[in-house]
Amino acid sequence: IQARADRIQTRSFSPADQSILDRHRQLDRDLRRALERNQLRLNFQPQVDLKSRRIIGTEALMRWDHPELGPVSPAEFIPLAEETGLIVELGRWILNEACEQAAAWPSPVTVAVNVSPIQFQHVDLASAVSRALRSSGLPASRLELEITESSRVTDPGRVHAVMWQLRNLGVRLAIDDFGTGYSSLSYFRDLPFDLVKIDQSFVRNRTSAEDHRLLAAIIELSTKMDKHTIAEGVEDEPTARLLTEMGCTYGQGYYFSRPISGEDFTNLLSQPPRQKRIS
Ligand code: C2E
Ligand code: MG
Ligand code: MG
Ligand code: MG
Repeated sequence: IQARADRIQTRSFSPADQSILDRHRQLDRDLRRALERNQLRLNFQPQVDLKSRRIIGTEALMRWDHPELGPVSPAEFIPLAEETGLIVELGRWILNEACEQAAAWPSPVTVAVNVSPIQFQHVDLASAVSRALRSSGLPASRLELEITESSRVTDPGRVHAVMWQLRNLGVRLAIDDFGTGYSSLSYFRDLPFDLVKIDQSFVRNRTSAEDHRLLAAIIELSTKMDKHTIAEGVEDEPTARLLTEMGCTYGQGYYFSRPISGEDFTNLLSQPPRQKRIS
């Protein structure tokens, strides 16, 4: 590791590095402006109960159509916003917007909102959540927060305490991207959550028998620990069927639906029950 660090430090600064820096500087400045000018949108990706194939909820995903650069992926601008601290204001906007829209959907359809670990550390998240619920009128039971652990968490004790506050408000908590990065088995022992969101890397492109057994083992472990499971990245019927057989509770992915506008999601919900089943 030391040798690698040396190599990284002595590698010279290239024109490519400069253009990445320039893009990031531009994105940071423009994101602030986009937030002020209300140019950001949420899309919603349906989540289905795998047995009945009914829509039970949706995940809110940020969309930014940059006037010059075109669509910029949240995978690019969220980490940037985390670095600059803009995620605090951005996070507040997302929470309010998601609750407002979800309040108009029929009960018990839920909305899942991604929260950054930075929000846990620098905001009174429980107060922000209860304000968003109060002003939108959305019942707490219909809001779910998706939490991803990361290296940015410097105070795990605080994360734990805030999760309990949120739990006490009555919102549901999901561990996002489970099985990758910093998520660990000790969560089952230490953290109060309701749902394990299985990372799409375990769900898509399964090729070997080991891939199957690993997926089955994650579902079995979670179920044994009294958690519901939701698989992300479901792209075809065989995967949906396999997950159902393995006892996974919910599914989300392009096979059921891409992320769509709030209007399209609302229309999907208002279709008669028979048609509302997806696939
Ligand atoms: P995530 O929370 O794990 O969201 C799932 C990502 O997988 C989304 O990408 C979604 O569009 C994509 N996806 C869904 N189904 C499929 C599928 O069947 N196949 C494939 N290949 N991909 C699928 P997206 O919208 O680009 O978001 C990327 C990440 O950005 C999210 O990962 C989340 O970590 C972050 N993000 C997005 N919106 C927000 C937000 O409002 N707040 C925060 N803090 N993070 C957000
Ligand atoms: Mg998520
Ligand atoms: Mg995820
Ligand atoms: Mg992810």
